[in-house]
Amino acid sequence: MTVKTEVLILGGGLAGLSTAYHLDQLGKKGRYLIIEKREKVGGRAGSEKKDGFLFDHTGHLLHLHDPYGKKLITNLLRGNLTSHERSTWIHSHGVDTRYPFQANTFGLPPKVIAECVAGFLQNKRRPRALSKHPSFGEWVDKTFGSGIERHFMKPYNEKLWRTPLKGMTTEWQGRFLPSPKAEEVLYGALTDQKKFFGYNAFFRYPTKGGTQALPDALASRIDSKKLSLNSRATHIDLREKVALIEGLGEVRYERLVNTLPLNEFLDIATPLSGAVKAARRRLRWVSVHNLNVGVDRARISDKHWIYFPEKKYPFYRVGFPTNFSRSVGPRGTSSMYIEISRDPKQRVDYRALAKASLAGLRECGVLKRSDRILTSLWIPIECAYVVYDQARTASVHTIMKALAGRGVRSIGRWGGWKYSFMEETILDGKRCAERLLGRRVLESDSRAPLQSLK
Ligand SMILES: Cc1cc2nc3c(=O)[nH]c(=O)nc-3n(C[C@H](O)[C@H](O)[C@H](O)COP(=O)(O)OP(=O)(O)OC[C@H]3O[C@@H](n4cnc5c(N)ncnc54)[C@H](O)[C@@H]3O)c2cc1C
Repeated sequence: MTVKTEVLILGGGLAGLSTAYHLDQLGKKGRYLIIEKREKVGGRAGSEKKDGFLFDHTGHLLHLHDPYGKKLITNLLRGNLTSHERSTWIHSHGVDTRYPFQANTFGLPPKVIAECVAGFLQNKRRPRALSKHPSFGEWVDKTFGSGIERHFMKPYNEKLWRTPLKGMTTEWQGRFLPSPKAEEVLYGALTDQKKFFGYNAFFRYPTKGGTQALPDALASRIDSKKLSLNSRATHIDLREKVALIEGLGEVRYERLVNTLPLNEFLDIATPLSGAVKAARRRLRWVSVHNLNVGVDRARISDKHWIYFPEKKYPFYRVGFPTNFSRSVGPRGTSSMYIEISRDPKQRVDYRALAKASLAGLRECGVLKRSDRILTSLWIPIECAYVVYDQARTASVHTIMKALAGRGVRSIGRWGGWKYSFMEETILDGKRCAERLLGRRVLESDSRAPLQSLK
């Protein structure tokens, strides 16, 4: 039997759910079908239960900036949202310093502080112009100077991105990397300045239910008959507008919204032109192997998360979900998420990596020898971070143009092949619904009259 739908939405993560929610809100109730391969919604914004713990796919904190996004998310999670003042640190040279590293070197060995401050001030005294399209490496060097580059920016970012900084662009980092003033760098070298920098001085987190509470709240507002779980897309015929879905069979659609990682979508879509296939081959990403553990001691850390730039630690970041919400672990315990980045082609020995990670956490003092690991759960994130190399923008442009010509919108963090976060993903869904309806996209406005689906 062939199923027919006006809009087929691939993926029941935040992007897919938000598209459906906004189509409903904009008056096109139920003229879509969402298919999701898993037995539940949420995608990477979901949470997994194990032995009394609730583990997210690494840390998922809500940073709300857009007025509409903020209003929608706080409404969806009304009565179930706690605001936290961020406590974020960097562990290097055997000490913890406050985030961001560039503004908080106080506490590091004097020689390291001197190198960081001298390099920064030298840049200020003799600024060097950035080239027209600077690499991330050039930007780091000319913005922060050689000391900050050597002691944090280069080792941390290369550990995360698995790419030389000279091979990356600056397109992604604008909102993610704070650039302090000279006096802030100096003051932060002389004293423990408790000043907030950056995009995430505060964050919100569901009081109960882990980050899964957000996709669940969105899903509860759409018609459950329009959501097909345990339904994996295995082939899309872009010309005939037919999708093959495991568990459902053939689905004929008029418009397609993709939220699967772009690489995975292109691997099941036909026909593709030579230019699109070549652009697909140029897409690069890194995988994150996320080890979650439950520990038999309350409050093993007073922090929210810690960055680890040094090579001797296999992980680049470790966070403490039981400090976001007491409901995600049994009384008297703590939980941790440990994030390890790898090239997607690299084979991972999880036993060895878990052993090395726990040894690292004992060495830096997060775990005590007497701590007992109550449970652990690996969550592999095959496509975690899109690499912004020199080829990314042109490749994405070629692919998106070709897809648009076939009536496909590819959105979300991985469908849109970008570095973004949950609020932005929800807004992607809103914009997508508006565009499907042929509406001019008006940020923060979803009240204007509607037209039919185009
Ligand atoms: C390490 C890490 C940390 C992050 N931290 C934060 C944070 O602190 N704060 C924040 O706001 N954001 C954070 N994010 C970003 C956040 O996860 C994303 O913005 C958001 O989850 C993207 O949702 P999406 O719907 O675009 O994609 P997804 O969540 O990937 O949704 C896609 C859906 O498609 C489904 N699917 C895949 N293949 C198929 C198939 N063949 N057929 C059917 N269904 C399929 C998947 O199961 C999934 O449900 C983080 C991301 C990562 C990787």
